[in-house]
Amino acid sequence: MSLIRYKEKRNFKSTSEPSGGKVKGGSLIFVIQKHDASRLHYDFRLEMEGVLKSWAVPKGPSVNPADKRLAMMVEDHPYDYKDFEGIIPEGNYGAGTVIVWDEGTYEPIEKIEGKKAQEKHLLKQLKDGSLKIILHGKKLKGEWALVHTKQSENSWLLIKHRDKYAAEADITEKTKSVASGKTLEQIEKALAPKNGSPKTASKVTASKKTSVKRTSSSKNTTAPGKKKVKS
Ligand code: MN
Repeated sequence: MSLIRYKEKRNFKSTSEPSGGKVKGGSLIFVIQKHDASRLHYDFRLEMEGVLKSWAVPKGPSVNPADKRLAMMVEDHPYDYKDFEGIIPEGNYGAGTVIVWDEGTYEPIEKIEGKKAQEKHLLKQLKDGSLKIILHGKKLKGEWALVHTKQSENSWLLIKHRDKYAAEADITEKTKSVASGKTLEQIEKALAPKNGSPKTASKVTASKKTSVKRTSSSKNTTAPGKKKVKS
């Protein structure tokens, strides 16, 4: 596997995204990043052969087995990308804010011992266009399938299998990072550079004006004779 396409698209002098990374640990890992780029999407990444095989999922994963979520395969990402949370500056590929929406280990559904043997099995499934995996994440758990469709070379479907972790609730309503506990908006506010490029700078100024506003007590209506409710 190679990161040529990943590196071609990026200028590491102007983005803080990682350029590589060595695999650590005896279990295969997965990560899902929520990425507020030109279009909001979720990046689903599975460790295989030292890199992260990656799919962009426009609607995000669904724990409802009735939903089949389109997942567009994109270029391999370096292993260290699993920890990336922050802002890809304007003018860079994928500009926008990224949070680690979910992370954990994963394995094939078939019981296979050892990381090497698991990878071999998964690479065959990847080639055959049908991955069957168990996720051990903080948000996503249990059995999942990633199935290649004939729609186009890169289009796959992400589908939850029926098991005890299947549900009808919308899992994307959980909006916080599992790494920092922050939402995309909170990361953006915390990390937006004060002296960035002119474009970024004006964006910061605009958000500064609105950030002082408090919204928590806006619904405290006090009728006569009624006690004021503390929020
Ligand atoms: Mn992305």
